[in-house]
Amino acid sequence: MADKRDYYEVLGVPKNADEAEIKKAYRALAKKYHPDMNPENPEEAEKKFKEASEAYGVLSDPEKRTAYDQFGHAAFEQGGGGAGGAYDFSGMDFGDIFSDLFGFGDIFGTRRSSSRSGPMRGADKTVDVRLTFEEAVFGTEKEIEVDSKEECKTCKGSGAKPGTNPETCPNCRGKGQVRVTQNSIFGQITSVQTCRECNGRGKIIRERCTDCRGTGYITMKKRYAVKFPAGIDNNGLACKIPGKGEPGQNGGPRGDILVRTIVSRHPVFQRQEYDIYSTVSLPFSVAALGGDVIIDTLEGKIAYEVKAGTQTDTVVRLRGKGVPTLRNKEVRGDHYVKFVVKVPERLSKEAKEALRNYDGLSGDFLNAAANAGITKDKKKGFFGK
Ligand SMILES: [Zn+2]
Ligand SMILES: [Zn+2]
Repeated sequence: MADKRDYYEVLGVPKNADEAEIKKAYRALAKKYHPDMNPENPEEAEKKFKEASEAYGVLSDPEKRTAYDQFGHAAFEQGGGGAGGAYDFSGMDFGDIFSDLFGFGDIFGTRRSSSRSGPMRGADKTVDVRLTFEEAVFGTEKEIEVDSKEECKTCKGSGAKPGTNPETCPNCRGKGQVRVTQNSIFGQITSVQTCRECNGRGKIIRERCTDCRGTGYITMKKRYAVKFPAGIDNNGLACKIPGKGEPGQNGGPRGDILVRTIVSRHPVFQRQEYDIYSTVSLPFSVAALGGDVIIDTLEGKIAYEVKAGTQTDTVVRLRGKGVPTLRNKEVRGDHYVKFVVKVPERLSKEAKEALRNYDGLSGDFLNAAANAGITKDKKKGFFGK
């Protein structure tokens, strides 16, 4: 097991990456290296896939991550199961990632099945909330409405018509799951699949509760006040609402609600991480002589003094006028302004006269051809002979 790569390096995230970044990085790698998606080089892909999975297993678990940060790989070396240093995947929660990616939640089924007859935690529920550009930059609070499965009061969650009882499913003998063995590039994998007879409930309802149609749950709108921190970006995880996601099974706890942001674009500002970019048009006279130009910033208009002789495409940095950082909203990115010198399109007679005077004083460019002794045949133009 020599030369094990650094887990942060494996996932390509910085040491201070947050949970969402780590998950995002892993999701991308898992997709890229999933052996099913790399039929031309499955061994290499499998190696990378396992390496990424191992890194994710550690870095996504706060306790393991702390241990890794302190001791590195040595933190996990003792008691490695004797399998040549194979990493023990049990107890890792790949569920939601794999169900996202591949539509099933348990590729390490053999390892998990043994400890899986008990209560199961419900799935996390991702809720997308649209924010305006400014709301994301400065943070905001919003009430969000989420469809939530709540226990049916009529049947107390059993799904059976009041007065009747659910029966134990004969197909899975009440376990809710059946084992299926398949050949795959991981070798022979025994995976545990949800029983189709009872949809994993372990019970079959002969007479359904009419209020919940036998599901045991009623879908209700629930409202939550959510704080969106200043500096949150598009696709950012704003917060977790613990224990309010999908209900668990066999008495397991509910999953969480993950509130994700979708940030609208801004007509003037482009954002990159915590920096803002914008383009400001600079009147020719101001560019030439120097003077004030009005710039839109996140906080409104400011007057900025440009130097005489400012060229088009000049970029200036407004330090600390960018987006507040998530870690500390007092620390902000910068705002980069690109000036584009504007050529006037419509001029009054007097302005034209003034410009001709200016031209005469600054090089007589209007008569460049004559001054260079080149004669032009205006009527025939360039191609006529
Ligand atoms: Zn019911
Ligand atoms: Zn069943």
